This record gives sequence, C-alpha cells and structure tokens, in this order.
Amino acid sequence: MAKIAFIGLGHMGGGMAPNLAKAGHEVRAFDLVPDAVKHAQEGGCTPAASVADAVKDADVVITMLPAAQHVRAVFTNDIAPNAKPGTLLIDCSTIDVASAREVGEAMQAKGFDFLDAPVSGGIAAAASGALTFMVGGSDAQFERARPFIEPMAKAVIHAGQLGAGQAAKICNNMILGATMVATCEGFALAEKLGLDLQTFFDISSKASGQSWSMTSYCPVPGVGPETPADHGYEGGFAAALMLKDLKLAADAARSVGAYTPMGAEAEALYERFVEGGGGSKDFSGIIRMIDEPGQGRQN
Ligand code: NAD
Repeated sequence: MAKIAFIGLGHMGGGMAPNLAKAGHEVRAFDLVPDAVKHAQEGGCTPAASVADAVKDADVVITMLPAAQHVRAVFTNDIAPNAKPGTLLIDCSTIDVASAREVGEAMQAKGFDFLDAPVSGGIAAAASGALTFMVGGSDAQFERARPFIEPMAKAVIHAGQLGAGQAAKICNNMILGATMVATCEGFALAEKLGLDLQTFFDISSKASGQSWSMTSYCPVPGVGPETPADHGYEGGFAAALMLKDLKLAADAARSVGAYTPMGAEAEALYERFVEGGGGSKDFSGIIRMIDEPGQGRQN
C-alpha cells in the first residue's frame, strides 16, 4: 500500500481522501481549514500540519484545489521543494488547459510524474467513490496513476496527453452549465403552466428532456433524488466554481475560434447569479433567479 498525500479537503476532496484510506493506503491529509482536516481524520486519514509535512515521504500526491492560482502556488512553493524525486503528482482540480500544461511541464522538469485528472460527478459521487476521472498524461504515467485513482472512481478514462483531461472537463462543464439552466427554465415554466412538478419530473426524466442536471441533480426541492435543492442549495458545487468553469470554456473557445453561444449565455446568467450574491450557493440554486417575478424579457 502506498503513502498518499491529499491536499484540499473541501466539498470534493473531503469525500475523496477517505476512500483512499478505506482502500488501505496511508493518507496524510492537509487543508488550510482545520475542520476539513478533522473531518478527513474521522474518515481514516492521518492529519498533516502543512503541505510540506503531508508530501515529504509520499509516493503519490493528490490535489483537489479551487482554481489555477491555488494549483500553481501549491505545486511550485510547497510540493516541488518538499516531495521526493519521482513522486507521482495527480491534480484533480478543474483549471485551464494552459495552466495544467505549464505546471505539469515544470513538475516533469523537476523529475516528477504529473497528470491532470479532473473529475465529474459532484459531492455524492466524491463521497461514494463513484467519480468519473478524465486523465491527461503519457500512457506510462496513466498506467502508474490508475490504481491510485480507482478507489475514488466509477470510471477512469485516459483523455490524451498532458492537459487533455482539463480540455475534456471544460467541454463537459460547459454542457452541464447550459443543461442546468435549461432544466431550471423547464421546471419554472412547467409550474407556471400549472403542472405538478413531481409529475413533470416523472415525464421528462423518461423523455427526451432528460439530463444529469435533471435526474441526478434536480434543482427543485423534494423532486427526484436528494440534492442540494433539498438543503437550501447549500453544499454541492458552488455557483462561483461553475462560473469559473464557464469562463475557462469561453477562453478555450476563443483560443481556437469555436462558436459556443449556449455556453456564453450560461456564463452571462451565472455571472448575474454570482453578482447577486449566489456565488457560494450550489449551482442549481440559479433556479431561484430564473423563477423570480419580473425575469421575463420584453424582447
Ligand atoms: P472547495 O472550495 O469546497 O474545496 C477546496 C479546498 O481547497 C478548500 O477546503 C480550501 O481550504 C482548500 N485549499 C485552498 N488552498 C489551499 C492550500 N494552499 N493548501 C491546502 N488546502 C487549500 O471546492 P470543491 O467544491 O471541493 O472543488 C474543488 C475542485 O474540484 C474545483 O476546481 C472544482 O471546480 C472541482 N469540482 C467540483 C465539483 C463539485 O461538485 N463541488 C465537481 C467536480 C469538480
């Protein structure tokens, strides 16, 4: 069994790290938030005092951080100077492709193996070990990393070379942002047309309007499986992080001249939701903005 350092124990990492401990690995866990470290300890991880302390004897380092600036800082300032040469580094955060490549190349130049391995699935999948991982790196690095990813995953897919995992994740989340908004609109309209929302769910979840946003993450409280909607849109995937991903998609689209009008509209709507104070709410909470009186446009 391996010594694994796990850095970033938030909504996602807090569920993922204990699954590695349950698989028999020695997991040294660190987060800037002491309660997050305590929670990981309750899940079978060993608390570390700092990133340096977590990574110093590790065979594998896994990070699950908010955004590119955190990934750059943690890898450059904390992991590279303190990890053993040859350590396998796996970043599961969602960041832009260029940053993933730059950080990865810098780590490889220092003698580490580095893969970008962002995930899809949400906090329930993180806690139950059922995430989908999309991994960028060489064939040999992918085969080295796979056994350490599997205890957290329902699927581990090699997307291509360094950065390809992030490219796949950005495209996936652009679809997710647009389908969540569309699902919210559908339910808000269904209610105004006098439909019972559970009945509409029963119909649409078995019809062509079905999507993950509807069947696994329904934005309406009391309808479908238990989701952040049932907890006042607390926890889950913060709207600010969805906005971050939509901006990453827009940047990526600009960089290759791709036309992404639905992604752009979803970005504008999430921008408005975040500016209105919804940034820390789950991203399905945008239904409240869409459902507000006076939202109808006078075109
Ligand atoms: P989060 O904000 O809940 O967790 C991030 C954690 O990183 C926090 O606990 C924070 O304290 C910690 N952190 C920040 N800087 C640190 C440092 N220097 N050292 C140690 N810890 C540090 O975010 P999350 O929802 O867990 O998401 C993490 C990543 O996964 C993001 O990139 C997000 O886009 C992506 N993601 C999230 C979801 C979701 O449903 N929440 C799903 C898929 C992917």
